Amino acid sequence: MPGFELFGEEERKEVNDVLATGILMRYGFDGPRKNIWKSKELEEAICKQFGCRYAQLTSSGTSALTTALSALGIGAGDEVIMPSFTFVASFEAVLSVGAIPVLADIDESLTLNPDAVRKEITSKTKCVMPVHMCGSMADLDPLIQICKEHNLILLEDACQSIGGSYKGKFLGTIGHAGTFSFDFVKTITCAEGGVVMTNDHDLYTKADGFTDHGHDHKGADRGADLHPFIGYNYRISELHAAVGLAQIRKLDKFLSIQKNNYDQLKNILSQIPEVSFRQIPDPAGDSCTFMSWFLPTESLTRSVVAELKEQNILAGNFYWFDNNWHYIRKWDHLKQATTLNNLNEGQKAALEKLQQKSFSASDSIMNRCISTAISLLWTPQQIEEKGKKMVSAIKKVLQQTSALQASF
Ligand SMILES: *Cc1c(COP(=O)(O)O)cnc(C)c1O
Repeated sequence: MPGFELFGEEERKEVNDVLATGILMRYGFDGPRKNIWKSKELEEAICKQFGCRYAQLTSSGTSALTTALSALGIGAGDEVIMPSFTFVASFEAVLSVGAIPVLADIDESLTLNPDAVRKEITSKTKCVMPVHMCGSMADLDPLIQICKEHNLILLEDACQSIGGSYKGKFLGTIGHAGTFSFDFVKTITCAEGGVVMTNDHDLYTKADGFTDHGHDHKGADRGADLHPFIGYNYRISELHAAVGLAQIRKLDKFLSIQKNNYDQLKNILSQIPEVSFRQIPDPAGDSCTFMSWFLPTESLTRSVVAELKEQNILAGNFYWFDNNWHYIRKWDHLKQATTLNNLNEGQKAALEKLQQKSFSASDSIMNRCISTAISLLWTPQQIEEKGKKMVSAIKKVLQQTSALQASF
């Protein structure tokens, strides 16, 4: 899954270019930087690689979401519909701009269920934010249809699905705006970093200013820039961008390794009729960072997780239902609105309601789901071995359970 697994000479070379001049900032210092512009180069590479018109780098995926939401004009009182299964950053960003996260159920694609989205629409809804979780995609056509019908913004959180696509277009480039994260465990990494992608020049200009204190970047120097609006500092540094530049050049290789490893492992697990796999709206577009699979019941799934642990092969397998970071069930700090400062009244009321809300449809999917992270470093022999061990652990649990049932 993560680009850090194949880190090396290429990254060091790019970083050394920056260290040689000592200009670690992405703007200004035109003379001393000796024409080294890693952030600009990486933005150009992103536009070229993913086929979007504009890319604005940021300090993280979280700040990319915050920037995109702000540039899209989403703020106090606005409701943003997002899935119950995502990384905490998605709702953090929504709260940080003063808006209200409205969580909707997922389906077996592990992403927003379009019917659940429809049920959440109110007069305050401004945006639908699908999250392309675990390397694969939300079914965007029905979501686009909903956005058109209700005049809503579509913002894609593609932080986990770099290089994935939907019907021939790269994830993150299909909505009004989309974001990637380049944090340390993402498909390509800058150590910390993110990007907002869009085809809309106005949005891009806003994102560019917003991430740099509102600077319009038109002055003869930074002191001469005007500030058409208030921004913050969500800039990426040249050192981080340098790492990202080396990584994006390897992305096609990463994706092809992931796909091969995924196919091999999936073939092995497919031998077990009780194992089913995540629905993938466009299988050709799966970035294959994870293989997500289901068992028929929660109790079988828990037993398999326990057996994988027992056999020391749980590492790299994620049971999100019990995980504190990725699923609504364990987001007590969100449900209890535990913040360091005051939220606005609309946000408080919405989070209070969230405490009472049932996510039984999501629960019945997440409590049966295990995601296996696909490593870039596995050899075919290792995959064979890993697959066999997983199969034997699953079969053992299934046999024990059927023996138990037979004994009644
Ligand atoms: C990683 C991630 C983010 C945030 O990225 P950071 O760079 O870690 O801030 C946002 N959304 C999702 C779905 C993610 O997986």
